[in-house]
Amino acid sequence: MPEDTLFSKIIRKEIPADIVYEDDQCLAFRDIAPQAPTHILVIPKKPLPKLSDAQAEDKALLGHLLFVVSDIAREQQLEKGYRVVINTGEDGGQTVFHLHLHLLGGRALGWPPG
Ligand code: 5GP
Repeated sequence: MPEDTLFSKIIRKEIPADIVYEDDQCLAFRDIAPQAPTHILVIPKKPLPKLSDAQAEDKALLGHLLFVVSDIAREQQLEKGYRVVINTGEDGGQTVFHLHLHLLGGRALGWPPG
C-alpha cells in the first residue's frame, strides 16, 4: 500500500477541506493556496501516488477524473477557459504524492509554465 498522505486524510474527512464534489471514485476540493481565482484539486479515492504509477486497470478511473474536471469547470462557470495540470514526480513539481488534477481558471493563464 502507498504511504498515507494528507489527501488520504481529506478523503477520510480527518482534515477539513472545502469540498465541491464527491462520488464513489473521487473527491474535489479547493486548493489551500490558490494560484488562480478558481483552483480546485480532483483526486481519486484510490491512493495512486502519481500519474506514472497508473496501470492499465486505472484507465477508466483516469478518464473519470478528466470528465469530472470538465463537469466542475462548467459548474464553476469557467466558459472562458481553464487549465488542467498534473504535476508528476520531483521534476514535475509534485509535492503531495497522491495523484491530483489541478483545475485552474478565472483569469488568463500564462504559457509556458515555470
Ligand atoms: P502539487 O504541488 O503536488 O502538484 O500540488 C499539491 C497542492 O496541494 C498544492 O497546490 C497545495 O497548495 C495543495 N495543498 C497542500 N496541502 C493542502 C491541504 O491541506 N489542503 C488543501 N486543500 N490543499 C493542500
